[in-house]
Amino acid sequence: MTDHTPAGIDQIAAREQAALLPTYARQPAAFVEGSGARLMDVEGRSYLDFLSGLSVTSLGHANPAVATAVSRQAHALVHVSNLYYTEPQITLAERLKATLGWPDGRAFFCNSGAEANEAAIKLARRFGKATNPSKFRVVALEGGFHGRTLASLRATGTPEKHVPFEPLGDWVTHVPHDDPAALSGAVNDDVCAVLLEVVQGEAGVRPVPHEVLAAAREACDRHGALLIVDEVQTGIGRLGAWYGWQTTGVTPDVVCLAKALANGLPIGAIVARGQAAGAFAAGDHASTFGGGPVMCAAALAVLDEIEQQGLVARAEEMGAVMHAHLEGLIAAHTLAVGVRGRGLLQALVLDRPVAGAVAAAALEDGLVVNAVAPDAVRLAPPLIIGEADLATMAAVLDAALTRVADQEGAIP
Ligand SMILES: *Cc1c(COP(=O)(O)O)cnc(C)c1O
Repeated sequence: MTDHTPAGIDQIAAREQAALLPTYARQPAAFVEGSGARLMDVEGRSYLDFLSGLSVTSLGHANPAVATAVSRQAHALVHVSNLYYTEPQITLAERLKATLGWPDGRAFFCNSGAEANEAAIKLARRFGKATNPSKFRVVALEGGFHGRTLASLRATGTPEKHVPFEPLGDWVTHVPHDDPAALSGAVNDDVCAVLLEVVQGEAGVRPVPHEVLAAAREACDRHGALLIVDEVQTGIGRLGAWYGWQTTGVTPDVVCLAKALANGLPIGAIVARGQAAGAFAAGDHASTFGGGPVMCAAALAVLDEIEQQGLVARAEEMGAVMHAHLEGLIAAHTLAVGVRGRGLLQALVLDRPVAGAVAAAALEDGLVVNAVAPDAVRLAPPLIIGEADLATMAAVLDAALTRVADQEGAIP
């Protein structure tokens, strides 16, 4: 096995260590440019991107329509604050309402996924406390990921992540991701919202059973709580539908969006419908940058491109092709035992915690994937991915699994 680690990487790592707070455990690659599903590192090596910057760059890198929209808007107006009207923000809200099929929807724009969840939690508290001062609790799922700010971290269902930052307050109840009865039982009149993902991305691409979604909808209706679906990772076409909830038969009151919405520029959004859309009044929430003209222009270009290229249907089609390739790997390797997810968000499940080694071996051979869990490799290629690149992905993973099986002394 040749070592493809770029020569300059040690130097870059040393500079970073002296300059940045050490919050990130980086993989040994430094990227400088990209085009479509391809990335190039500092040494000019080419990679196939099956991560999309964590489910963000759905149109691929350097999308010309997004670049043009950003450039045009940046030359016209970048920022004036939300003290004034700016039309791109309104147009983007109108377009999101249309993709959601929510004529009574109302949007709020922020700058990230965590901020979208913060906004949704604040909206739900405002909504709940209007009827009952103790109606501020949130029910969320074990393993769920909602962000790194204090409230979104509290809602995140991995207690190990809470410990260094406690106290975070006692206002969230977590229930197993696959137990409709436990969820129903946790919702009472003090609950203002149930917050969950349709497919739990960071938990290892773990689909939440539709019965849990249905139980959440029923419990929210029974107790006057809002159903908030965190579509930060699953929304904007990734699952082969505009939004993951559209595949479940259950309609939420609020959706939270971010990641892919502007193909890599920072944006977050919530859209609320029905009674939820009436919960905030002027002054209840705000963001200096939120809904800025450049981010909204980028997001509008993203929505146009997805529509013009039919990328929602394509995610479904290419997702089926990807699934078949992963099934092929399972048939060929004892290490590979399952596939989870749908559309172009899937994980290859391994029989032992060697996902990091598989992802590292793939990176050496020019394929970017990520070990989303110790035993699961996440595949989230851009929605523009084609059949030839899917076949290349399978060939690289095939070799990576063989190498890791050799190291493990397992039968390949
Ligand atoms: C990534 C993610 C977030 C956090 O988004 P940031 O932009 O990193 O704050 C929240 N929820 C889900 C489901 C995510 O995948």
